[in-house]
Amino acid sequence: MTKHIFITGGVVSSLGKGITAASVAMLLKSRGYRVAMQKLDPYLNVDPGTMSPYQHGEVYVTEDGAETDLDLGHYERFAGITCSKASNYTTGRIYSSVIHREREGGYLGGTVQVIPHITNEIKAAIASMHSDDVDIAITEIGGTAGDIESLPFLEAIRQFHHEFGENNSLFMHLTLVPFIKAAGELKTKPSQQSVGILRGIGIVPHILVCRCEIPMQEDHQQKLALFCNVRRENVIEELDVKNSIYEVPLDLARQGVDTCILRLLNLPERESDLTKWKTMLETVLHPKNGTVEIAVVGKYIALRDAYKSIYEALSHAGIANSVKVKFRPLEAEELDKGALDELFSGVNGILVPGGFGDRGVPGKITAVRYAREHGIPFFGICLGMQCAVIEFARNVCGMESANSTEFDPRSEYPVIDLMESQKTITAKGGTMRLGAYPCVLRPGTRAAEAYRAGEIRERHRHRYEFNTKYRNELEKAGLVISGTSPDGKLVEMVELKDHPWFVACQFHPEFKSTPLKAHPLFTGLIRAALAYRG
Ligand code: GLN
Repeated sequence: MTKHIFITGGVVSSLGKGITAASVAMLLKSRGYRVAMQKLDPYLNVDPGTMSPYQHGEVYVTEDGAETDLDLGHYERFAGITCSKASNYTTGRIYSSVIHREREGGYLGGTVQVIPHITNEIKAAIASMHSDDVDIAITEIGGTAGDIESLPFLEAIRQFHHEFGENNSLFMHLTLVPFIKAAGELKTKPSQQSVGILRGIGIVPHILVCRCEIPMQEDHQQKLALFCNVRRENVIEELDVKNSIYEVPLDLARQGVDTCILRLLNLPERESDLTKWKTMLETVLHPKNGTVEIAVVGKYIALRDAYKSIYEALSHAGIANSVKVKFRPLEAEELDKGALDELFSGVNGILVPGGFGDRGVPGKITAVRYAREHGIPFFGICLGMQCAVIEFARNVCGMESANSTEFDPRSEYPVIDLMESQKTITAKGGTMRLGAYPCVLRPGTRAAEAYRAGEIRERHRHRYEFNTKYRNELEKAGLVISGTSPDGKLVEMVELKDHPWFVACQFHPEFKSTPLKAHPLFTGLIRAALAYRG
């Protein structure tokens, strides 16, 4: 039987609920439990795929092609699990299926209401995690206790726990214990009030995880236990980490959060094995090879979360090469102003990530050219590959006006064009080429060497592709097509020969990188960056 952990948040947002949930999953997994994860988001978009990264950070794509919340990235990276369409439900998705069913006559004769119909639909979403292969399902509720819009989710988990029973499910509440500078003290009151809000809707947390910037004292913990109705040993401190988010699971383990959970769920406390994680963290804290600096040329640079998985994957590749990766985020439009030598001075590699729309594209193309002409290790991802193809067509093949039809529908040389399968699609939500597809690698290329494989599977999120009409001409001029779809029709990877590392892919490798298993293409980039640094 699958048991459940529900994680809620209180006091303020941005406490790192996703990282806490992911850390708990990782700890339970390291005790031999099979864990699945899920995030419930209170907003009305059916999924975050239609939102700007400025609104929501990156859109994380699952293997089965769901466009989801970036917390799922933490789940996969920390716990090494594979999320799916069942791992992310929004209010929009819940309502849309209830309303669809209503129109089909599924509730004929009845009045359709938030309770019980919406809450039942939420409970069904939670129950969809049940499987013979899952011992523990962790469900994180987005938003903060007290938000109007998350109420149906909280009511649903309250009912779920009531029906499922004590010892089969538990509530974990992540809260803030702020340090008030003027008083020189940590304050427990906001947490007490947040738990009060939950209690008002019938949820009594079993475990309290307290985010704080300085360590709590025993009397803080006792006070919280007493006033929040939580056993003292279940009040856990989660201090700000100094160096790496990957310290969080070890900090939580030190306080026995996994033991608390297993006791509460009546599950045996199997031996935990954290050796690999500790070794990995050791490398993060004390890399042997110093630092390399990678420029990331994007259009949502002001918001770190917009390229979350890219930065994480670069760090993982740093771990694999025992080097600290420093980021130089560059706003693509800045490159239009020139002063390139200054902008790129001292960088050991250039990465151009994915994106949509024409803002920033000229700057990205400039970055590609700079990397190509100066022999700086380069990695292009999705739009980054498309920019690399456009740049090559323009500046090597002399097709001056080469472009993607996304930016210039009447381009004389549409080297990137809308995919055939996209031509009849008008609706925007969930209609891109999404999720994992196989890709065949050409032997002897950098791609094949990096992967040490002939066929790979990677996740996609795009509508445009390399226009194969130009394939011969570009290949003749020296562009190497290193990966294609198995039928050979879609170009999935390109690279250059006479360059230390110039590799680009149509898919998003960043989604499959984890700290324990860096992605081969990122590892290749960082290895090349190290060599370039000399
Ligand atoms: N805008 C491009 C396309 O739709 C690239 C997408 C991306 O970078 N994810 O094909």
